Amino acid sequence: MSALGAEPAGLVETLERAGIHLLWHPSLSEEGGPAALDVLEDCRCGRRGFDVLCVEGAILEGPNGTGGFHILGGSGRPMVRWVEDLAKRARYVLAVGSCAGYGGMLAAEPNSLEAVGLQFAGDEAGGLLGDGGCGTAGLPVINIAGCPPHPGWLVETLMALSLGQFRAEDLDGFGRPRFWANHLAHHGCNRNEYYEFKASAAEPSQNGCLMENLGCKATQAPGDCNLRVWNGGGSCTNGGFACINCTSPGFEDPTGSFLETPKIAGIPVGLPVDMPKAWFVALSALSKSATPERVRKNAREDRIVVPPRQRGP
Ligand code: SF4
Repeated sequence: MSALGAEPAGLVETLERAGIHLLWHPSLSEEGGPAALDVLEDCRCGRRGFDVLCVEGAILEGPNGTGGFHILGGSGRPMVRWVEDLAKRARYVLAVGSCAGYGGMLAAEPNSLEAVGLQFAGDEAGGLLGDGGCGTAGLPVINIAGCPPHPGWLVETLMALSLGQFRAEDLDGFGRPRFWANHLAHHGCNRNEYYEFKASAAEPSQNGCLMENLGCKATQAPGDCNLRVWNGGGSCTNGGFACINCTSPGFEDPTGSFLETPKIAGIPVGLPVDMPKAWFVALSALSKSATPERVRKNAREDRIVVPPRQRGP
């Protein structure tokens, strides 16, 4: 659903404009049933060449490592075997979404389905395909993480691959493309002024920063979702929802509620990356003492009640 909103023209046309042919997709392609199985079998046996295997959804290894919880309809074979075989034939392998990347929501405790990602099980390297290079090009699995991932992350990765412009050093330690994973979701949030002054919302729908009370983890979350925004303007925090760090392994098992900030002695447990606790505490106190009245008041409202003071008439 997210990928269909790829801009500027939707997924299929955007790929076509870039000269990328979509060979088969379970929801978008006309072939279904035996015809779809023929396409997959031709790819699996090498009768039909293809460049990129995109896997969406967690890999279910259960019960007891057999993969029997997820049989590809009509084939009688577990999906894990299909993915293993197709990954050997593809030049590049993409995990699309945090489920395919790490196991995601389906791997939440107690993980009865034995869900893993393609090359990670949570934050542990391995997953279904093991560590290191895979696909005939030898790159690690490219992890288009997110729940869901931004459509631009998928499309731009495919474009870079089609141009031969993607190298192993373009990926971070979890296989996420650096062109988006070198940012934090916090960058560009329209609540940044409230963050600077630690002027926090106390309830959903208020304008203030969502970090102190309402669970926002964007200062720890790789992603440029507030810089490139979604569908022309949206993002989780722009819509009033806390960032849940969905591009990182383990986001599915938060400490406490998704929408509440866990604290010890009044200090948020999940501090911004790169910031020692003592600095954060000192800067917070300083910022709060310097908060303009306008920012302090607006933070607890659902609209601007105190506009910026005008210079001149
Ligand atoms: S709401 Fe989240 S993303 Fe926005 S400024 Fe606060 S911490 Fe950053």
